Amino acid sequence: MDLLLVNPSHTRVYHEGLEAEGYPALESPYLAALTAEFARNRGYGADILDANVLGLSSDEATARIVEANSRLTQIIVHGNQPSASSQLMGWVGEVCQKVKDSDSETKILLTGTHPAALPRKTLEEEACDFVGRGDGFDTATALLKGAPNSQVPGLWYKESGKVVQGLPSKLMTNDDLSRGLSRAAWDLLPVKEYRAHDWHALEDLDNRQPYGAVYTSFGCPFECSFCCINAPFNEEGETKNAIRFRNPKDVVDEIQFLVEEHGVRNLKIIDEMFVLDRRHYMSIAKELITRGLGERLNIWAYARVDTLREDTLDTLRQAGIRWLALGIESASDHVRDGIEKGRFGYEQIAKNVAMVQNAGIYVVGNFIFGLPDDTNRTMQETLDLSLELNCERPNFYCAMAYPGSELHRMAQNTSRTLKRAQSEVYQRGSLAVLDRLLPVPKDWNPNRALLPEDEGGPGWLGYSQHAYETWPLPTEHLHPGEIIAFRDQALAAYFTNKGYSEMLAQRFGVENAQKFIKVNAKAPSRRLVVEQHQNGI
Ligand code: SF4
Repeated sequence: MDLLLVNPSHTRVYHEGLEAEGYPALESPYLAALTAEFARNRGYGADILDANVLGLSSDEATARIVEANSRLTQIIVHGNQPSASSQLMGWVGEVCQKVKDSDSETKILLTGTHPAALPRKTLEEEACDFVGRGDGFDTATALLKGAPNSQVPGLWYKESGKVVQGLPSKLMTNDDLSRGLSRAAWDLLPVKEYRAHDWHALEDLDNRQPYGAVYTSFGCPFECSFCCINAPFNEEGETKNAIRFRNPKDVVDEIQFLVEEHGVRNLKIIDEMFVLDRRHYMSIAKELITRGLGERLNIWAYARVDTLREDTLDTLRQAGIRWLALGIESASDHVRDGIEKGRFGYEQIAKNVAMVQNAGIYVVGNFIFGLPDDTNRTMQETLDLSLELNCERPNFYCAMAYPGSELHRMAQNTSRTLKRAQSEVYQRGSLAVLDRLLPVPKDWNPNRALLPEDEGGPGWLGYSQHAYETWPLPTEHLHPGEIIAFRDQALAAYFTNKGYSEMLAQRFGVENAQKFIKVNAKAPSRRLVVEQHQNGI
């Protein structure tokens, strides 16, 4: 075989306690399936090892990779969302090392958000041969074709122990996407094994499988400083964020195939910003309606508060879009301004959430605690806003500086500066303002790890939102332990709020509501940074 694509194991590795209850979603690795199809269209044999759906340990995955004996093994480091990439690097690093220990001839290419964001560090630290930036489709096929490393688009590699950058990555254009990638290689995936999120299937909790996930576009033109979405989806050297669209007809053909051939009802549109380009998303929605697919589908997709258009919502609902996830982030205009997401205010948030719900579409409200300008007061305001909006599903995150985001670059600079200066000097000298550094509390220990990968930090798993090792950023006024403790308490407060359980029971029935709340309101497990804060560390 020419190309083996590997989807890293994460669901069972990182949600151990919840897996027993069947809680986490198991999402099909769409990028792996698309890359496989791209390679097959060019005459190469390809297969996919979905270590996630199989729940493989690093030893088990290593055995499968060595046995496959492919000319190239490409591990796509991409979780269910771009920000879930870095946390996979522990498992990925172990697999690379074990594969090389078993068979040093196996060539390993790493692609996805984390390697694209940190190509040099990845090549220096992991036992891989190559890192691919960009979307990685033609990086793999150029390697298979035998092109010299220096001529492979998007390739970073090692030569005489030194890291070398090859040709800049070249992204597929809209036309390329139409011509070469009309459908992913679904025949290589066990579609019936994939499972929707419990909230997504709240209308029918016993039927979460099968579950489909497709991209209709890649990238996002916005520039929120905490977001790493564009690390793999931007042209190398390009500073302006781009978005590329698949042909709407190809998208609907693919969805129809999933519905008719695999019985898919629950479907995720993976795009980080689906409700953006009206012509694109309305073409897809209208075609889904024309083909009678809307009533057979339960789709969720992403939008922004300021990209919603009231006159499109009925069409979206008829097209089967029953859930829209909105990035609300914070109740405070000031905090949202600080992350370049301040174009909408409180009134627009409340009005647009109600507008979506009135169109019969459920809302996932995404909120972030511990953004750089957050205080205890603004975090409480965010929680109050979430309770007031009473979205059908809340997502509460701690602010993290994900590799590939502007926040990560600022945090790296801050880390370096802190090591040079005492924190009091850092505060008094207003270095944070001058150099776009991040604020830290006045009593911050300058030797404490700011980022999970810094010395003394927990490593890549610190980027998980739900691990013992979860390692949020501090703010000027808050220790990371205070932020995560607040986030965990906020979740418990939301799920035990009477208004929430009543709304849920009314929408989805008493039994489903109770079952859902019982799993989701579970008390959080221990947190490393909370323990550190309690111990004055
Ligand atoms: S709008 Fe969403 S996807 Fe786009 S940059 Fe902001 S957070 Fe990322």
